[in-house]
Amino acid sequence: MANSVLSDRVMQNEAAAIAWVEARVWPDGPVCPHCGGVERIGKMGGKATRIGLWKCYQCRKQFTVKVGTVFEDSHVPMNLWLQAMYLLCSSKKGISSNQLSRTLGVTLKTAWFMSHRIREAMRVVGVEPMGGAGKVVEIDETLQGRIDGAPKYVPHGKHFTWRNTVLSLVERDGAVRSFHVEGATMASMLPIIRANVNKETALMTDELTAYKKLGDEFDSHRSVNHSDKEYARGSVTTNTVEGYFSIFKRGMKGVYQHCGEKHLHRYLAEFDFRYSNRVRLGVDDVERTARAVKGIVGKRLTYR
Ligand SMILES: [Zn+2]
Repeated sequence: MANSVLSDRVMQNEAAAIAWVEARVWPDGPVCPHCGGVERIGKMGGKATRIGLWKCYQCRKQFTVKVGTVFEDSHVPMNLWLQAMYLLCSSKKGISSNQLSRTLGVTLKTAWFMSHRIREAMRVVGVEPMGGAGKVVEIDETLQGRIDGAPKYVPHGKHFTWRNTVLSLVERDGAVRSFHVEGATMASMLPIIRANVNKETALMTDELTAYKKLGDEFDSHRSVNHSDKEYARGSVTTNTVEGYFSIFKRGMKGVYQHCGEKHLHRYLAEFDFRYSNRVRLGVDDVERTARAVKGIVGKRLTYR
């Protein structure tokens, strides 16, 4: 039997895992999270010392690579974190906390905490608008799950008021950004589009009237008329964003069966991350895991 990625030393040995994470988080050597210093930093040795402990001789404080990241305050060994990250990064439809708990041999509660922290690492922050000259961004919205307090069976005609709206922007041959839209009105969607898409971009949407306002602001705006059963007119289609929704929906239905409104944005970050770092863009499972590891920095999650 060929060696599985999970049997790799980095996934099995805590010191090897810490070194692997350090190399990704600190490509130019250790950075003190307390004072930002990069010089006069020494590795703490000795048998009684925790693995991966460093000391900054500028501010005289100690730290590990976990400080200031989503791993801070967690006692889970780093190699187990990497196993969990690899599983979440390599499963196209996600992996349930139940499954993660059984595979890693941790409690369900720990698996749940771990997966939400990994989703936080996957969340993209502070990025430039998508698209640009010669680029196409497809925009679409979909309904996902019930809002809190909604009846189990949403009455016909009440779909928009009782369900969560997800807005996704997909750049063709590029990344996706999804948003849980509060209130589900066009007034709340248009500012998201304006803030996230470069004005030189060609937009493709369905025929929803409110999108028509965007035509003057962007390079171009074309729409397909889904109510007339029109799905493509030459290159005018929203098939890419609909393909993204189909992966998201299969995962939410098959794997994450009980996602409350409160956590929807976290699952969107997870599906967005995998899609934006997909095989077609040259990113394999290990590289995707490495990219998620780079996202652990500067994002501490606290749960009450
Ligand atoms: Zn320092």
